[in-house]
Amino acid sequence: MATSTNPITNPTTNLTTNLITSRGNLPLPANNTWEDDTPHEECGIFGAFVPGEEAARMTFFGLFALQHRGQESAGIAVSDGEAIRIHKDMGLVTQVFHEDELKRLRGHIAVGHTRYSTTGSSVKQNAQPLSCLHDAGTVVVAHNGNLINTRELHTEMKARGIPFETTNDSEIIARLLAEQKDLGRTTAEAVRETMKQIRGAYSLAILTETELIGVRDPNGVRPLCLGRLDNGKWVLASETCALNTVDATFVRELSPGEIVIIDRDGVRRVPGVPMEREALCMLETIYFARPDSEMYGQSLHIARQRMGIELAREHPVEADLVIGVPDSGIPAALGFALESGIPYNEGFIKNRYIQRTFIQPDQRMRDLGVRMKLTAIRETVKGKRVVMVDDTIVRGTTTGKVVRLLLDAGASEVHVRISAPPVSYPCFYGIDMATQDQLIAASHSIEEIRQHIGATSLGYLSTEGLAHALSVSNDSFCLACFTGDYPIEIPPHVMVSKFALEMPMVNGNGAHYHTAEDLTEATSVKRNRILEPAFDAPDNGEGPE
Ligand code: SF4
Repeated sequence: MATSTNPITNPTTNLTTNLITSRGNLPLPANNTWEDDTPHEECGIFGAFVPGEEAARMTFFGLFALQHRGQESAGIAVSDGEAIRIHKDMGLVTQVFHEDELKRLRGHIAVGHTRYSTTGSSVKQNAQPLSCLHDAGTVVVAHNGNLINTRELHTEMKARGIPFETTNDSEIIARLLAEQKDLGRTTAEAVRETMKQIRGAYSLAILTETELIGVRDPNGVRPLCLGRLDNGKWVLASETCALNTVDATFVRELSPGEIVIIDRDGVRRVPGVPMEREALCMLETIYFARPDSEMYGQSLHIARQRMGIELAREHPVEADLVIGVPDSGIPAALGFALESGIPYNEGFIKNRYIQRTFIQPDQRMRDLGVRMKLTAIRETVKGKRVVMVDDTIVRGTTTGKVVRLLLDAGASEVHVRISAPPVSYPCFYGIDMATQDQLIAASHSIEEIRQHIGATSLGYLSTEGLAHALSVSNDSFCLACFTGDYPIEIPPHVMVSKFALEMPMVNGNGAHYHTAEDLTEATSVKRNRILEPAFDAPDNGEGPE
């Protein structure tokens, strides 16, 4: 039986509420407070099945390694085999969890979540993991991704009398799972039936009183990997960097459409739903994931260096110096320097703590914008023809200011090189970047963008260059924000936005769409390719269901 720690069903008596009351909610600065023009990571998830150990403590360190994937809220749910306890709050992992909380989260099975909001506002109510009671116990969900049939499911489930207490699409998953459990289904059946109903991007770490379950959507848009501790204990994580942190050995990435169930009998792979078209988010490899993580069996730091090498081949230039925009532009800058023979040096100092202040800037400080985050190193760039390598240009608001920093510091030329193709289409699969009307590449030519940012020259890596750099066919990736070719069909009549359950026709950035046709036109969504159902379940040595 679950204890009464369920924040959804019993908000007055749970551990989470008590602790929040005693500490109060930490006000987080809005993401754009300090000139923030980058796509935002979605969420990080972690799960641990570690009999004899403190699963919550291990999950804390796993989440700590995944902090880059979301900084708005953090939470851990833990089971001791009989009762489930949850603690979650707004803030960074280290702000939400202290010794007291971890000591109270007793148990050997845990799931954890660090959140950047993709559907639903950044409020405590929407923090994850989300739990839901059913007749025989509790199911807890940690979700990374974004559903695209949120509104239909929400409407249909509400019509069936199912209550909702958050504006988070992840609650739909938790409630569908609980509903299936109430019908008497096994966990595997409940997960499979839920997967048949939800559409979109989802990697899940699910907790019951006795099991840890990992799930990846049929397109594998968001990553999820399985790791093993030396004594046969198991962990799940969004990225391999979290496995390294807890000293787990990487076993494999979950396949698209796959379910793994971990319990006292070990880990077993059970049929999920058929893989549709493998479509890992390409921006994970370019920018989101930590460079010390691996995807498709390769180090992302090395992959990003190869992107820089391809970039130098596609857009050579005569220059004196190569610099990277910290932090994510640096590996590609190293690759560019390696291929071009132009020396690499540090061109900027970054204030790594600017996003973590709780003091709101006044207008004067806000006007200083990017200077609060980056300082050009005058001694490095003065009088030099500089190649400045970065990973993306989204709205174009920041890149021009960074170019201006270099020119003000005395650079004679600034050649901007971007290790990704132009971002021209919005993301519906869990990345918060902008609406299409805010994406500079959606409405401007490369020459117009160059003029807008004040660069001497501008070059983007091609989609072919990405494939060369990764040595993996582009058919294995989602490239929709570059190409408009969405691997999972976006219902044209549905507004899918960060606030889909709150303000149906207003997107997360304030743009208003009066009709579904407006939205369709605004996003120029191309219809997806024909999908070939072909569930592939290679034998990996784990037992059958
Ligand atoms: S649209 Fe872009 S950001 Fe979104 S999943 Fe696809 S590649 Fe990633």
